[in-house]
Amino acid sequence: MHELSIARSIIGAVHEEASRQGATSVLELELVVGPLSGVEIPSLEFGLQVLSRGSVLEHAALHITSPKAEGRCLDCATCFGLEFHYAECPSCGSFRTEVLSGRELKISSIVIE
Ligand SMILES: [Zn+2]
Repeated sequence: MHELSIARSIIGAVHEEASRQGATSVLELELVVGPLSGVEIPSLEFGLQVLSRGSVLEHAALHITSPKAEGRCLDCATCFGLEFHYAECPSCGSFRTEVLSGRELKISSIVIE
């Protein structure tokens, strides 16, 4: 379950940021997890819950947003919503498409005390 190691590195990054600012606890943590990031959000939430015990994140409210994934056709330049990495262009049927967004996995905001 690689969500657990992702949770660990998120907690590590938050911990570093909190101690850099001399904070003792984190009130809120906001994450952006794209639908194509390969991360299962419920597993990530579970991992964060388990691993944050006893850390600065123990009492933090966790918000995860998952923006819509978007792709673009390399043949006709149509942009469209994506559900998978490989998609057929809805306009011309080409499979030469690229992912524009949806793979992000990042901390968007930290509220500390
Ligand atoms: Zn196309």
